[in-house]
Amino acid sequence: MRFALAIDLGGTKVSSSVVSEDGSIVSYSTRPTDAQKGGDWVLNRIKEVAAEALESSKVAPKQIIGVGLGTPGVVDAEKGIMLSEAVNIPNWKGRNLKKELEQVLGLPTLIDNDANAAGFGEYVFGAGKGSKNLVFVTLGTGVGGAVILNGEIVRGASFVAGELGHISIDPNGPKCGCGNYGCVELFASGPAIAQKAREYVLRGVETKISKIVPPEEITAEHVAKAAQEGDLLAQSILAEAGKILGVALSGIVNLLNPDCIVIGGGVAQAGDWILEPVRWEIKRRALPDATKVLRVVPAALGTNAGILGTAALVFRAVQT
Ligand SMILES: [Zn+2]
Repeated sequence: MRFALAIDLGGTKVSSSVVSEDGSIVSYSTRPTDAQKGGDWVLNRIKEVAAEALESSKVAPKQIIGVGLGTPGVVDAEKGIMLSEAVNIPNWKGRNLKKELEQVLGLPTLIDNDANAAGFGEYVFGAGKGSKNLVFVTLGTGVGGAVILNGEIVRGASFVAGELGHISIDPNGPKCGCGNYGCVELFASGPAIAQKAREYVLRGVETKISKIVPPEEITAEHVAKAAQEGDLLAQSILAEAGKILGVALSGIVNLLNPDCIVIGGGVAQAGDWILEPVRWEIKRRALPDATKVLRVVPAALGTNAGILGTAALVFRAVQT
C-alpha cells in the first residue's frame, strides 16, 4: 500500500494527514496557522504539523511516496511557486514552497490551490466519484471553485481558472473586493447570506433567526437552521442565494457541459434549501442538451476534501 502526506493550509489552521491510496485517513494533526507571524513562521508550522501526522500514523517513512500541500491563493502548480499572497499570510507570494518543503521533508512535493485540491478530492473520493467532467463550487467565507475535465484540473494560462465566485451576475450590482461589480460571491457566500438575514432582522421582520441568535452574531449556519425549522424568511434568503448561483452555473454548464456539479463549503450544509433553487435555475436557463446527464449534488467529504484531494494528486503524480 502506498501512502501520501497531505497538508491543508488555511487562514486559521494548518492540518496534515497521512492518507492511504484507497482514500483512508490514517492520522490527523492540526495547529493554529498564526498567519500574522509571517511566511517563515507558517512554513515552520507546516513542517511541525506534517512531522506530527507522520509520527502518529505509524506508517514507515519509506512507504510515504510524496507530500502535497493545498494553500489559498494563486499557485503555479507546475513549479510549486506562490503567484499571489494567500489570505492573511504576509510574505507568501513568490515563495517556492515545493522547493522549500522538499528540502525539509526530503520527499517529492507538490503544491496546489486549496479549492483545486478540494475539488479533486470530491472528484476522486467523494460526491463526484465516477464522473468525468466536474465543476466544484465551495460556498464559504468566499465563493471558490475548481473545474476538472477528463481527470485534469483546468488551471488556465496563469493558474487562475475556477474562480467562479467572481462571475458577475449583475453589472450594476455592488462593488466586489476583486474590482468587478455584482459578483456571485456578494450574494451566495456565507457572510453575504448572514448580512441579508441581519438586514431583515434589524428591520423587524418576524423570523426564527432572531430567536436563535442576536443580529450581530448571525451566520449562514443560523439561517440554514431556521430554514430547516420551517422559517419562511430564512428559506427565501437561501433560495435567492441559490438562484444567483444557479444563474452563474447555467452559463458554466453551457460552456463546459459537465456531468456533475458538486457544491461544498459551510453554506452547502443548508442542503436542498440552496441546492434545489440551483438545480431549478440551471434547468430553466441552460441549454436543454447540456443538462441531460447533469447532476447537482452536495459535497461528500466535508472538511477532509482538501486533504484527500491533495493526497490523490500525489498518488497520480508520483509513479513508484
Ligand atoms: Zn468579485
